[in-house]
Formats: sequence, structure tokens, C-alpha cells
Amino acid sequence: MYTPYKHEPFTDFTDEKNQQAFTRALETIEKSLGRDYPLVINGEAVTTEDKLVSINPARKEEVIGRVSKATTAHIDQAFQAASIAFESWRYTKPEARAEMLFRAAAIMRRRRHEFSALLVKEAGKPWKEADADTAEAIDFMEYYARQMIELKDGKPINSREGEYNQYVYQPIGVTVSIPPWNFACAIMVGITVAPLVSGNTVLLKPAEPTPVIAAEFVNILHEAGVPKGVVNFVPGDPEAIGDYMVDHPKTSIISFTGSRATGTRIYNRAAVIQENQFHLKRVIIEMGGKDTIVVDSDADLEVAADAVIQSAFGFSGQKCSAGSRVIAHQDVYEELLSIIEERTQRLTVGDPVDFKHYMGPVVNQKAFDKITGYIDIGRREARLVTGGESDDSTGYFIQPTVFADATPDSRIMQEEIFGPVVAFTSAESYEQAIEIANNTEYGLTGAVISRTIEHLEYAKQRFHVGNLYFNRNCTGAIVGYHPFGGFKMSGTDAKAGGPDYLIQHMHPKTVSQML
Ligand code: GLU
Repeated sequence: MYTPYKHEPFTDFTDEKNQQAFTRALETIEKSLGRDYPLVINGEAVTTEDKLVSINPARKEEVIGRVSKATTAHIDQAFQAASIAFESWRYTKPEARAEMLFRAAAIMRRRRHEFSALLVKEAGKPWKEADADTAEAIDFMEYYARQMIELKDGKPINSREGEYNQYVYQPIGVTVSIPPWNFACAIMVGITVAPLVSGNTVLLKPAEPTPVIAAEFVNILHEAGVPKGVVNFVPGDPEAIGDYMVDHPKTSIISFTGSRATGTRIYNRAAVIQENQFHLKRVIIEMGGKDTIVVDSDADLEVAADAVIQSAFGFSGQKCSAGSRVIAHQDVYEELLSIIEERTQRLTVGDPVDFKHYMGPVVNQKAFDKITGYIDIGRREARLVTGGESDDSTGYFIQPTVFADATPDSRIMQEEIFGPVVAFTSAESYEQAIEIANNTEYGLTGAVISRTIEHLEYAKQRFHVGNLYFNRNCTGAIVGYHPFGGFKMSGTDAKAGGPDYLIQHMHPKTVSQML
């Protein structure tokens, strides 16, 4: 019997033993850098000439690994394998499928620092952020495995006299999982294992900047007993295989987390019925955010400052949950800004292998150019309080940046930057602050820092976001505790890590029998 779900505790890096263990894991990872990784189709390793080269964003010269690139012919083979595997996997007992996730979680737990160290190198995550990413991956496996066991006999419905009615959940088919690079372990694992444990088979196309961690995870799944063909690993150029996977007539579910541009493109294409397609595709799409922290006139400004710093600059703001706008009541606006200015100037930026840095690099040149472009826009639209400098000579480093006096409609207040940039606006009243907070096309996360109960109640009704946090930061949702997903243009609000997530990967079926 399994124990009730509890989230994986974070590593306490103030403990020297843990610091040493993590340093050893970094050394181990250093030794394995630069290896080749194959595709995995039907359980077989397939090596191609053409490679995706994963590099360390903190040291551009350092190659993390070279990963084979799938062509459309490989994708066809993977669909074939996944379709055949589906015919037995769909009838494998839910408990047996769940057990494989428990085993995979146990393997990852044993190798936890190794996975986190790889995230430090491949995604540029500081230790603490990397540790949380791996912990969340383990959480997804533990949580969804239990959820599948709970759902295995369906849900109760009514029966009239003389009939026996049942309501059960059945797997759907082949899932295309397209995760992002920012939670290169957690979300990649989450959107792979949710369809898997629900009885579907999977084609996993990892994010281009972080394919090595995904390759390591696929190995764990096979080690845990997942049969061949059930999960197929198909990295590649999005332009070459992305649309092809989405459009494929054998695709039944598409689970995507990433940019708004790609998410809406997938949504659109998934609606088109292809030749030999006899079903409607299901889509689970999580896109961006332009997340706001509202600071009330009676707020504890230390709490507010902690919330802003963590939300805006944790992992260099590269989270769809990142707090990139602060709407502060005019009574506390200047004081809050000066606390944030002082604290931001103390944050250090550098290679995350060094534990002392609060922030590492941003993920690649494209991200660097986009974010520095927004910093230029910010200089024109608002007042630069601190930060603004950047350096891409050895890695992609950008200083934490604060803009003040931005108007609610300005681009830095409206567009997702996905970097360490936060803009401040003042409001004349709390109600106006909430109104400004809602003035974006996104609706993912938000936070309110206030001591007034009625104001928190007001936000509960009127602050339109999927994840609303009071008197804390707006990042760091925990599986099973803070089901995660957004309103409006943030996505389909499938609520990853929540009680309704798995059923979105299954067909509910009604069976009515006359007695
Ligand atoms: N779930 C993460 C959080 O709460 C964000 C996920 C994302 O950035 O895609 O911070």
C-alpha cells in the first residue's frame, strides 16, 4: 500500500553536508558532458547524423550533449510504434501503470542531485531553483500515480431500479507532449507521465535548449519498466517536425506548455480534421503570463518586497508565473520602490555552478536579445530605477532590472518579457489597482499583499487569474497543493498538479446494464 501524497521537501543548502553532496553531483555531471544521445523509437535507440547541440547558457563554449534530431520519417515510425503499443498499454491495469511511476519517482529521488546539477548546467538554474524543479518532477509522478489509482473504477453515478450504471474512464490514444525549457525537468515529466499513467502512449518532443535532461528521464522510464513504444523520444527542430506532429491523423491529445504564439498555432491546427482521422483532438495548452503583484496601502512592505523579488527575479524571471508588474497603492509606492531598489542591487548574477549567485543566465541568445530589447523599450517608456546592464560575452547574463512609473498600457506592462524585468505603476485606490491588474490579455498568476480581509475577498472575486496568492509571491506552485493553470490567453487552465488533471487525458464512458 502506498502512503498518502506529500510533496517532496526541498534541499536545505545552508546545511554544509547538502552543499557538499550537490558539489559532488556537479562534478559527476561535468564528467558526463558532451555525450551523444539517440532518439528512442519503439524502445530502440536511433542515431542520426544531424544533431541538436545543447549548450550551457552560462558558458557558451560548454556542450552539454549532442542529441539526434528526428525527421518526419522518424515521427511516422514513432506514431506507428505508439499506436501499436497503445493496444496493449490501454488494457494494462491502472495500478500497474501507476507502479511504474512510483518506481521512476524512486529512481529520480535517488539521483536527485544529479538531475538538479544537470539543470544547473543545461538550463542555467541556480541550485535552489534546480532542486525545486527536480522535486516537482518527482511530485508529478507520485501525485498522478495516486490519482490514477483513485480513478481506476470511475466515479459513482445513479442507477434506477432494474439497471446498473457505471461511469468509467478510458485512455484515448497517442499523445504529443511538447514541454518548455524553463521547467526542463518538472513540466517535461508532468506532461509525459500524465497521459502515460492514464493509459495513453506518448511522443515526447523536448524543448530545443534542454533535450539532455529529457533523454535522461526517458531512460528512467524504461528502467522503471515502461514497455517499448509507450514513450517515444523524438527531439528535433520545431520547424521540421512540430506542425507535422500536431497535424498527424494519429494524434489524439496534444499537451503543450510554451509561448503564446506556438500555443495558439497548435490550438488552430489541432482543430483541422485530417484524412483518415476519425476523432477530435484534445488540447491541453499552457501559455504565457503577465503576472501582477498588487500592494495595498496597509501592506507589510517587507512581505511585499520579498514577494516582488522572488516573483520577478527567481530563475531570472523565466517563468510564466513570474511577477513582471507591480501595482502599488500611491501611499506606499515610493517607499516600496526604494526597498526594492536597495534589495535588487544586492542580488548577484553569475554562473549558477557557484552557489552564491542569486541569478544565473537567461537561456539563449534569442532570449537575451528579446529581453534586452524590452529593456530598451522600458528606458523609453518608463524610469529605470536599477539594473538594465547585460553581457553576453561568455554567457547570457542580464542584471535584475526595475522600471518605475510605467503606464498601464505601455508595452513593458502588457507584453510577456520572460526575463528579470519588473515594472511599477501606482494606483489611487485598491479597486483601481485590481482594475489595472486585470488589464492584460493573460490571466495566469497574481498576488495581493494586504492586511484587509475585505480586500482579499474582493480580489478573490475580481482578480481574474488561475492562481491567486495572498501575502506571498506568485511563483512556485506545488503539485497537489496549488494546482496550476491560467485564464484568458494563458491557456486552457487544465490545472497541472490538480485533482481534475488526469481525466482530461481520458474518455469518460457510461455503461448502463439492465438487470
Ligand atoms: N508552475 C510554475 C510556478 O508556479 C510556473 C510554470 C511555468 O513557468 O511554466 O512558478
